Amino acid sequence: MTGLVVVGASLAGLRAVEGARRAGFDGPITLIGAEEHLPYDRPPLSKAHLLDETVPSVQFRTEAQLAEMGVRLVLSTPATALDTDAREVVAGRRFPYDALVIATGARARTLTGTEQYAGVHVLRTLDDANDLRRALDAGPRHVVVVGAGFIGSEVASAARARGLPVTVVEAARHPLTRSLGPELGAACSLLHERHGTRLLSGVGVAGLEGAGSVEKVVLTDGTVLEADLVVVGIGASPAVEWLEGSGVTLGDGVLCDETLASSVSRVYAAGDVARWVNPLFGRPMRLEHWTSAAEQGALAAANALNPGRVRPYSTVPYFWSDWYGSRIQFVGVPGADEHRVVAGSADDGELVALYREGDRLVGALLVDQPSSTMKYRGLIARRTSWADALAFARDRHGSWAS
Ligand code: FAD
Repeated sequence: MTGLVVVGASLAGLRAVEGARRAGFDGPITLIGAEEHLPYDRPPLSKAHLLDETVPSVQFRTEAQLAEMGVRLVLSTPATALDTDAREVVAGRRFPYDALVIATGARARTLTGTEQYAGVHVLRTLDDANDLRRALDAGPRHVVVVGAGFIGSEVASAARARGLPVTVVEAARHPLTRSLGPELGAACSLLHERHGTRLLSGVGVAGLEGAGSVEKVVLTDGTVLEADLVVVGIGASPAVEWLEGSGVTLGDGVLCDETLASSVSRVYAAGDVARWVNPLFGRPMRLEHWTSAAEQGALAAANALNPGRVRPYSTVPYFWSDWYGSRIQFVGVPGADEHRVVAGSADDGELVALYREGDRLVGALLVDQPSSTMKYRGLIARRTSWADALAFARDRHGSWAS
């Protein structure tokens, strides 16, 4: 038996190998990763890791623990091709598999034309986070963050916590439109202003200027910002280049069915790289969320190893983000038909907003209301009607409800 091969040694990949063992698989397991690091946790990289405090450990497991699980680790070795006829992963040499889990995640997008400047950072990996932390330690005079998404906003928040002056530049008229919808994205971004971050929306970056190191950011409306540290947070793209020509169908990630199966037999995908059909919403989605990456990893491995007993992955998407000491949480999908603030307001700094599609509750945004988050997640999972969700909100939030 050639066993299970998992490509991508991060959250989804680690959960895949753990899930395989938990499901009783006792054959060989190989975990192949491009980075030199053991699997580590990314959310702290844009939060505690950037503060002017002791750096927390982000490593999930030690090498000894992985060895005890019988996992053969192949690090610092990017897979460069997949031969689906021979059932082999090419990563320096060839690794044969019976079952394969693709967990190569996503890579930070960069701003084209900025590569030649020192002082320009992205944030995806532990190495990126260490570089950025060092740059913040050096006490830059002007920090410019490009992109007011979750990672850009967390970086801005960490820089402000160090007392640094920060400007965030966002190309969309309303920040976080794709994740939260325009009005609620804008409501969250009020947090920036309240904490002294300057937010410029509806304007793009035309280019950078500087002699070696970045000195200025030139915007599309002609504004010129002083900048000695630039952080580009403009999203991530699925890491699928190595699969081109393999026969695995691609399209904004690895295209999968409800069970996380790719178009090729015994090849599954999990985490940020997987675009699968979520049965709860009846539509394909690719999430870049910690919780789904972990859950998909475990299920993809179990399904890949038990072709006769595959199970679908159905979930209410969930993510959180920490800005300026506030916890923002979102469950579900930002439905297009309506959203309603059912308690609090952006001005209060605490709010609950619900999202409707047809007559069904499909999403909820919560700012500093952590005790209600999983309640709404449960309502969405049970396909609760809009009317019942509003009644629930009235009961739950009482006089606070708007
Ligand atoms: P990744 O974590 O991207 O790991 C993929 C791994 O595969 C990487 O180690 C990569 O080097 C490797 N790889 C890529 N190509 C190859 C190849 N060809 N061969 C071998 N290996 C390869 N989510 C939340 O819900 N809440 C948060 O607050 C939050 N904060 C975040 C903060 C940061 C800074 C980042 C970057 C992400 C954050 N996320 C958050 C998202 C969450 O961390 C991801 O959803 C999760 O890491 C996805 O795990 P993954 O294993 O699918 O992919």
